Amino acid sequence: MATLSQQVLYADLFKDKVDRLTNIDDYAWGEELFEFPIIVFTKGGKTIPKYKSIYQSGARVGLITINPLVAGMIEVVPALYEPSSKRIFIKDTQFNKYWIYLRESIKIGIDNNYNYCVEKGIKNPEDIVDLRALWDSCQEPFIKDGTIQYKVRKQEKNSREQRKRNRQSKIDNPNNIYFYSSNENGSRRIHDKECKELNYITDGSFTGSPDVPDGYILCPKCKRQLMIRIGCHPNTKQIPVCSRFFQKHRVSTAAIQKMIDRGITFHATNMSIMTINGIEDTWQIRAAGEGVSLWHNNYVRVSDTERYITDGFHKQNCKGNMSYMLNYIEGYTWKKHLEGEARKQSVIKAKPPVIVNEVENTKPWYSRLFDLLKKVLKVR
Ligand SMILES: [Zn+2]
Repeated sequence: MATLSQQVLYADLFKDKVDRLTNIDDYAWGEELFEFPIIVFTKGGKTIPKYKSIYQSGARVGLITINPLVAGMIEVVPALYEPSSKRIFIKDTQFNKYWIYLRESIKIGIDNNYNYCVEKGIKNPEDIVDLRALWDSCQEPFIKDGTIQYKVRKQEKNSREQRKRNRQSKIDNPNNIYFYSSNENGSRRIHDKECKELNYITDGSFTGSPDVPDGYILCPKCKRQLMIRIGCHPNTKQIPVCSRFFQKHRVSTAAIQKMIDRGITFHATNMSIMTINGIEDTWQIRAAGEGVSLWHNNYVRVSDTERYITDGFHKQNCKGNMSYMLNYIEGYTWKKHLEGEARKQSVIKAKPPVIVNEVENTKPWYSRLFDLLKKVLKVR
């Protein structure tokens, strides 16, 4: 039994509308389309061969369909018809907007032209839709719930997953400290592994390394965290404590970076002591309330110039805030310590000896005259 033709059913409604269709060359009822392949395109037809000439020679057509939800029920779908190949071109956005209605119209045409369609292998309205212009190397289009959707192609899916795994293994590699984009046109900033800016780097260009790559600068957002991570490497769990310790005692990012640049490392498992591995010596900064004290590793002196470091710490006479103490630590080497001692010694040696005459000179003039007379006259 034939399905009722929309062209017949809605002829009067269409008459009301047709006079106002000034922007099209011609029109076709949706139910007539079963004979014409529908090409869905995107990006201005760039993916369709010779689209420019198709566009120039083609006719602007309106495809008539029924939408019971709009006033007048007639819906006109803008399309381009190429007479030489009898193909219809519809933009993907228009397709997504109207396909749900247009397919119903085409279905009527298929039902009413059963033999022709069976011969051509057309069972459903989707069988006349050609989505090849939407394909690319990564994704494959398909129609679902009346709109075009995309699935990632299997090969692409595999390589995408591989790239994701590669990224994760770079993050997990304990030797990697700096993370950045290897894309030459990308950002030249290096990041801490937890920096949110990393989300903007694609898996394919995501890189990690133990050294700062040439031409890169530290990201200002994660620089402090990165410096602290390097400073307490490989004790990642200490990062939050060290971070709070520096924060509480107002140590600047520049001061932390200065330590890192000098190869100084630090460790803290709680907020009362931070141990600092200085240039040669080990130090502790012990917190007492809001203030801090500096402690230096004990050592035994075996000669004027030699020593060996032993267990324990002694309090250093160093007054100031934590930044001041860090400066002190950065400036300390055993050699400098000995040089300091030598300078002190030479100052002591260079002090003028006490001269008796000088003491005499301090006597008043009459005393000195009397002494002189005593010497000359040998008065007893
Ligand atoms: Zn960052």
